[in-house]
Amino acid sequence: MSLLDIKKAGAPVLKEICTPVERVDARLRKLLDDMAETMYSADGVGLAAPQVGKSLRMVVIDVQDEHGLLELINPVITAREGSVIDSEGCLSVPKVFGDVERAQCVTVEYIDRRSRRRSLTAEGLLARCIQHECDHLDGKLFIDIAVRLRKEEDKE
Ligand code: ZN
Repeated sequence: MSLLDIKKAGAPVLKEICTPVERVDARLRKLLDDMAETMYSADGVGLAAPQVGKSLRMVVIDVQDEHGLLELINPVITAREGSVIDSEGCLSVPKVFGDVERAQCVTVEYIDRRSRRRSLTAEGLLARCIQHECDHLDGKLFIDIAVRLRKEEDKE
């Protein structure tokens, strides 16, 4: 496995509508491995392929709950319920946090690394993370939709 370079806000790839994955092959699984390693190394809870310069509909998530590492290929959010505003950050926007309104509960359909169709219903932090990462696949950053932004230095 190897660590990948995380693109920062301003990089054109972060504004692109990403391309669906057509086939999950060894190269793609290697990219998933590298994305997970990069996410853990940066202390993140989620990372989308465009954040490492690959314009593909693929994300990794680990919010340290019972689901462990989730690899979502071609994820589509098919149901949203409720609404909650909470703080978010992003590995592509260092030292910035913002309050973002998200659905409280979502259902996401995707394929896994063995090309099996999966469905997951999540709430709380995992639901927030799924929405944040899926936004990346449509070229959207949380700073574009936050109701309030603050720099890390302003926290005290
Ligand atoms: Zn992000």
